[in-house]
Amino acid sequence: MTVIRGATTIAEDQPEEIRKAVGELLEQIESRNQLKRDEILSIVFSSTSDIHSFYPAKAAREAGFASCSLFSAQEPEIDGSLALCIRVMLFVEKNITPHHVYLRGARALRKDLAQKFNVAIDGPAGSGKSTIAKMLAHDQNILYLDTGAMYRACALAAIRAGIDVSDEAQVCDLMRNVALSVTYENGTQHTLLNGEDVSGSIRDRDVSMAASTISKHESVRMKMAEKQREIAGKMSCVLDGRDIGTFVLPDADFKFFLTASPEVRAKRRYDELVAKGYTVDFEDLKREIALRDEQDSTRPIAPLKKAEDAVLIDTSDMTIEQVLQTIKTKMQEKI
Ligand code: C5P
Repeated sequence: MTVIRGATTIAEDQPEEIRKAVGELLEQIESRNQLKRDEILSIVFSSTSDIHSFYPAKAAREAGFASCSLFSAQEPEIDGSLALCIRVMLFVEKNITPHHVYLRGARALRKDLAQKFNVAIDGPAGSGKSTIAKMLAHDQNILYLDTGAMYRACALAAIRAGIDVSDEAQVCDLMRNVALSVTYENGTQHTLLNGEDVSGSIRDRDVSMAASTISKHESVRMKMAEKQREIAGKMSCVLDGRDIGTFVLPDADFKFFLTASPEVRAKRRYDELVAKGYTVDFEDLKREIALRDEQDSTRPIAPLKKAEDAVLIDTSDMTIEQVLQTIKTKMQEKI
C-alpha cells in the first residue's frame, strides 16, 4: 500500500470553490501518480476551521470517486495556520514512490515538493493576455507580473520630463535617474516611479503609444528584462508581455501566445476605455492598435513574436473562462 499526501487552498468558503479545488487536487494526484480509480482504497480529508460550507468528501464523491471510502474532518483553529486549506491523504492499493501534490496557496506548506514555475503569456494588445494572466495567477496563487506596466512607466517618466521618447540617448540618460519598481498589495501589482504609485496614469492612451516607442530601445529593454528575470527567478509567477517566451524567459515552464482578430482586439480596448469614461473613436483606436502591433513586431530587439514552443490560442470567439480552462488543461497535460 502507498499513502499519498496533498493539499490545496480555496479563495472563499463556497461549495463551488470547494468542488473545484478538490476536483483539481484529486485529478492532479491521479495523473502524477498514474493511478486508476479502483486502486484508491480510501481518501481522508481535513479542512481548516474556516471552511464550513461543504464537505470535501462530498465534493470527491460528486467528482466521481464513488467506490473508495471517503472521510472528512475539521482541523482545530490554530494560530498562524494557512487559511482556507484542504488537506488530503489517499491510501492506494499498490506500491509506488508517491508524488505528493501541493497546489495553489498550499505550495507554501511544502516548498520542497512544490516546484517554482513560470508561465509566459505573450501576445498583441487586446488579445486578453493581462485578464487571463491575472486570473491564472490568482487561481494558482502565484504572482502576476505585468511587464507592459514597466514599459509604460518608463514612457510616463519620459513624457513628464518632456523628452522625445524616440531619442535613445536622451531616454538612456533619463533612465539612469529614475527609480522604477513594482510592489504588491493583496496580489495586485503597483508600479512605482521614484516612489510614486503611477499604476493609474500609465494606462492613459498617450502612454500606450509612447511605451511601444520607448520599448524599442536596447538600453530600456535590457534594464526591464533584467528586472523581470530577477523577479521570476525568485518565485513562481505568470508574466505577460511581448517577448517573455522568446527573450526574457526562453526556458519558461509554460508558454502561451494569445491572439485575436484586429476587430475583436480593438473592440475590447474600446469597451475598456469607454468604461473608464474616455470618449474614443473606434476607427482611430483600431489604427492606433495596428500601428503599435506593427512597431512591436518589427523592432530589431525582442520583437513581438510567438516562441516556437508556445501554445497558440486564438481568443476571438472564446470567453475568458474558456481561455483560462484551455491554459490550465495544457499546463496539466505538460506536468
Ligand atoms: O501590454 P501593454 O499594452 O501594457 O504594453 C505596452 C507596450 O509596452 C507594448 O505596446 C509594447 O511595445 C511594450 N512591451 C514590450 N515588451 C513587453 C511588454 C510590453 O515591448 N514584455
